[in-house]
Amino acid sequence: MLKKIDHLGIAVKSLAEAVPYYEKALGLKCEHIEEVPSQKVRTAFFACGEVHLELLEPTDPESPIAKFLEKNPAGGIHHVAFGTDDIQAQLEQASGAGVRLIHDKPFDGAGGKLVAFLHPKSTFGVLTEFCIPKPGTSTH
Ligand code: ZN
Repeated sequence: MLKKIDHLGIAVKSLAEAVPYYEKALGLKCEHIEEVPSQKVRTAFFACGEVHLELLEPTDPESPIAKFLEKNPAGGIHHVAFGTDDIQAQLEQASGAGVRLIHDKPFDGAGGKLVAFLHPKSTFGVLTEFCIPKPGTSTH
């Protein structure tokens, strides 16, 4: 079952340029910065109540974020991530409803989580992530 919106993924060209906006203009605190090799991104996490913002900077031209920025040069909201209590069941439910999956198995994402994505062509344009904390890791 989906529990909450866990985070919003926001594509930026440069964390060095974007982080000060979130810190100084919005007054949020950068909790940590982490490189995620599986997605070829560097991420910066901010908490806003229960929801996190995940800024995503590409580390490679082949990164999905680099491709997103080619189409959206100013950056922007890249994905919505739902926290779930059973990621595999969530993927099976979506797939059973005819939704195209990008990943049919969860993989290691940022923040010590297992993640998997639904294809935006099946989700009315919203790249949708499911995530769940990996057992034994601190949560985001
Ligand atoms: Zn995410």
